[in-house]
Amino acid sequence: MGSGVGGKDRAGSPALALFNTMGRKKEPFVPLEPGRAGMYTCGPTVYNYAHIGNLRTYIFEDILRRTLEYNGFKVTHVMNITDVGHLTSDADTGEDKMEEGARREGKSIWEIAAFYTEAFRRDIARLNILPPTIWCEATKHIPEQIELVRRLEEKGYAYLLPDGVYFDTSKFPDYGKLAMLDIEGLMAGARVRPAEGKRSPTDFALWKLTPPGVKRQMEWDSPWGRGFPGWHIECSAMAMKYLGETFDIHAGGVDHINVHHTNEIAQAECATGKRFVRYWLHGEFLVMEKDKMSKSAGNFITLQTLVDRGFDPLDYRYLCLTAHYRSQLVFRRESLDAARSARRSLLERIHAHGAGAGAAGGSAGVAKACERYAARFLEAINDDLNVPAALAVAWELARDSSVPAGGKKRVLLDFDRVFGLRLDAPLPADPNGEIPDEVKALAARREEARKAKNWKEADALREALGKIGYRVEDTPDGPRIFRV
Ligand SMILES: [Zn+2]
Repeated sequence: MGSGVGGKDRAGSPALALFNTMGRKKEPFVPLEPGRAGMYTCGPTVYNYAHIGNLRTYIFEDILRRTLEYNGFKVTHVMNITDVGHLTSDADTGEDKMEEGARREGKSIWEIAAFYTEAFRRDIARLNILPPTIWCEATKHIPEQIELVRRLEEKGYAYLLPDGVYFDTSKFPDYGKLAMLDIEGLMAGARVRPAEGKRSPTDFALWKLTPPGVKRQMEWDSPWGRGFPGWHIECSAMAMKYLGETFDIHAGGVDHINVHHTNEIAQAECATGKRFVRYWLHGEFLVMEKDKMSKSAGNFITLQTLVDRGFDPLDYRYLCLTAHYRSQLVFRRESLDAARSARRSLLERIHAHGAGAGAAGGSAGVAKACERYAARFLEAINDDLNVPAALAVAWELARDSSVPAGGKKRVLLDFDRVFGLRLDAPLPADPNGEIPDEVKALAARREEARKAKNWKEADALREALGKIGYRVEDTPDGPRIFRV
């Protein structure tokens, strides 16, 4: 349904507005090039599985991309894979996370990187996150990063210390603008202690040198000596390579505002003298409630943890859609249960619509009603991606008895271009995800008893199921098992 070509909206419908972290206000989205949008999102550091909190950020970015496409923009989406240089501390100290992962698992760094990159791709596919137009690995862009450091050195923004090349943040008057950092306060040294030899506490490594006598698994020659790139430089270098020195949108988690994105801006803008990014978008945290699930998973919940507990990855996606991306979302087992029921119920309604209903919407009145729902949906997503409101519109339509089934289905599937909930997928076999075999066996025995009209036995088995948390309902399609 969309709203026409080239980002031009249908008459009367609101244009897309996004909350820009730079300046902290909602602004109409006007791309550099009409009808196109360039977008860079910080990808994973591939030394471990992604946590569901990380995945919430990728779901938000996917909604952003889908909303742009729904509005008719042709999107070039670039995502990096950090496979070198991300140290365990933001203050340019600590171990390389990749080296740490390799040691933990007794594998080479390259094996670790390949393994967790694949795991990440699988996770985002299961969440129905559209793959980026361009994936780029840091280790495949070393010359570009060296070249950017060289440009910064040439312009006097870099200085050399025994352990690496550092960016001199005092030379960039706009430093910290994105984060609204109190540089004066930082300089007083109250919160950040400067590393050995750093001119300012906010200065950061552009290139780290391998200490003498050490052989790292990942290191490259550079004009300053053998070593590896600082973490921030890869994003500036690769974003500019694929999207140009100035591009439309850069997104990531809120945890990137203060250091990583602040430093990306400093590197890029000092090298080019141009504005780096026009719209900065940041997704809030997922907050883990200390419940049974997070405890048993050691508080490190992956998508697979959820699948092992009988959830569909899209149940988690649905849960993420119930909160605005700029609000924190508290992760609770009950909320995920509720998200699963809601997603299933929406699927069931769509399937009910599919059965016996004509594809056409019917009368002109119905067409008007569908149009009104579509307009409200567009208004919601174009208001800084207000997906919870868009979901409410979808539910209102799903329950509206005045709109015939075929029309409803058509409109809901159109909304799903943004939701990405695979609402056209077949219904899952079990209404509550995985039902354990012992439960199925009990239910089958009860069904046999019922067929044999042995009511006493059937009732006893029903009671036994209830005691272990299941309920059987006899439907026209046969018995169905529900988790209570
Ligand atoms: Zn980045």
